[in-house]
Amino acid sequence: MHRLFIARIVVLSLIFIGLCALRPARFSKPLPASATIPLHTDYPVPVNQSPDWGFFAHKRINRLAVLTLPPEMMVFFKPNIDYVTDHAVDPDMRRYATKHEGPRHFIDLDIHGHAPFADLPRQWTDALMAHTDVWIVKSTGDTVLLFGKQKPLQEVWQRDYKKWFSSQVMPRFYQDETELNVDSLQTFLDFMGRKERPKSAFYQEHLSEHGTLPWNLQRMQRQLTEAFRQRDGRRILKLASDFGHYIGDAHVPLHTTSNYNGQKTEQHGIHGFWESRIPELFADDSYDYFVGKPEYVERPEDWFWQMVFDSNKMVDSVLTFEKALRRSFPLDRQMCPDMRSGMMSVMPCRDFAAAYQDALNGMVERRLRSAIHSVGSAWYTAWIDAGEPDLSKMGAPVLSEEERIEAERLRKTFEQGKILGRAEDH
Ligand SMILES: [Zn+2]
Ligand SMILES: [Zn+2]
Repeated sequence: MHRLFIARIVVLSLIFIGLCALRPARFSKPLPASATIPLHTDYPVPVNQSPDWGFFAHKRINRLAVLTLPPEMMVFFKPNIDYVTDHAVDPDMRRYATKHEGPRHFIDLDIHGHAPFADLPRQWTDALMAHTDVWIVKSTGDTVLLFGKQKPLQEVWQRDYKKWFSSQVMPRFYQDETELNVDSLQTFLDFMGRKERPKSAFYQEHLSEHGTLPWNLQRMQRQLTEAFRQRDGRRILKLASDFGHYIGDAHVPLHTTSNYNGQKTEQHGIHGFWESRIPELFADDSYDYFVGKPEYVERPEDWFWQMVFDSNKMVDSVLTFEKALRRSFPLDRQMCPDMRSGMMSVMPCRDFAAAYQDALNGMVERRLRSAIHSVGSAWYTAWIDAGEPDLSKMGAPVLSEEERIEAERLRKTFEQGKILGRAEDH
């Protein structure tokens, strides 16, 4: 009995010593050169690393956008600046709760051809229609493609098809249903003089998988304008916070390409390097945030497209300069250990990040500034289009019980940490 007790103590002590040995050492910044560890092109992405611009940049964008607003808007937004700041990352949290959220944060423009992307439909219904296949199951049991990219409809039928699509496919798309109403389809086929007699029908959409960011921005602009029109303070704040997030994403070059994390060019991890690591290191000390007054946007739709096209033009530099720097910069000074939330990880070193930032000629700062100005301009435009409602009497809306529960649910799923859909794409 006594021997067993001693044995237990020995085992427990060994486990304890083992855990101590495993516990990572703390490194204070700046790291001594001797603390750097050589690493190759792959950046291990730490488990707790936040996605997107990083929570840091998203919050900063929304906060500083408030400070660009005219007094008539400031009177409402300033007292709620903490709400707009804290909720700047809600859309990212939703990515852990629903698979539908992910596509709203990016667009793989390269999948849609080349600049000026003439074939890419600027309107949501047209885009969804162009990237949706409609299939029928015949009485023989065969499944056949009826309309779709491989089976385009003649020009003459396009208008009627759009009507049918809008009334039959769109509502189902939002309800997450893929089965189509066969009678309605039959009516449309008869109208076209087609001979098919489908037993059942369904559709498959291929747009979301490549991202829906610019169309989502259009939707947000309409919704925010409507919320201003309704003078619904709570909704204004929620939508303005979300909208700020998506506009922020639209300013990140790697949110506009299918090579979003350098995975196609052996630059894995470059996403977080550009949008999280660099702002975290330098945005506090060296960035200039004076962006001036917001501007009224005449044609928001075109403006959003231009925003992602501008980001997309920078993708090449983002990738090329990093690759070149990897070759020229001393290998043992590229990646440094980093400690956060009690976890050890490896991150691009400060000097290496500074060299990348310089090579990009301050691109990260420019995009951050542009994002702040754009968010202010989008909010301002929505308010003007809503007829400049008087916001002075709205005060600070209190969260309803439902909203509180929803916020709590988001936070929980986020903490569990499983992104539904593509990681690092947002
Ligand atoms: Zn991102
Ligand atoms: Zn995002």
